[in-house]
Amino acid sequence: GQDPRIQKISSAIRVIPDFPKPGIMFQDITTLLLDTKAFRDTIDLFVERYKDKNISVVAGIEARGFIFGPPIALAIGAKFVPMRKPNKLPGEVISEEYSLEYGTDKMEMHVGAVEAGERALIIDDLIATGGTLCAAIRLLERVGVHVVECACVIELPELKGRDRLGDKPLFVLVDGA
Ligand code: AMP
Repeated sequence: GQDPRIQKISSAIRVIPDFPKPGIMFQDITTLLLDTKAFRDTIDLFVERYKDKNISVVAGIEARGFIFGPPIALAIGAKFVPMRKPNKLPGEVISEEYSLEYGTDKMEMHVGAVEAGERALIIDDLIATGGTLCAAIRLLERVGVHVVECACVIELPELKGRDRLGDKPLFVLVDGA
């Protein structure tokens, strides 16, 4: 059966309909952060999975990958690298464009934060269409990093974002409502 911690994590996530616009069921992880047991269990489940996988980089996606990524990185002895929205990082960056429902966005990473041959785990709170994780994978692979896996707290399976990742493994804890 399923790990008994999963159900509590799932119930600690609040769903807000029609935010930020009509038709979106927003999966709000801020309520998970208020539940000290469920938040700890969330981090522990990732740490248990990744601690012996020789991962040297945890790449966290802005903004909510910055909440879950660092405690995982510290626990598995990896560095944390932020994958940011454009024009936020002060140093030299490499960037990758990706498409949104309307228009495009960009993701940036500091040059020199990672080296070719390193093994990375990518973390975000949620996968919807998979476009965001795809951009992060491309960015890391362009500099020769091996992306071992992508991990999210929540998956919206109906959007089939997993298919967009091709053969890159995706690990999630819960399915979104
Ligand atoms: P996507 O690129 O379509 O997979 O979208 C994933 C990104 O958008 C993640 O960084 C999520 O935080 C955010 N996101 C998309 N849909 C939702 C949702 N229903 N609830 C909360 N966050 C979402």
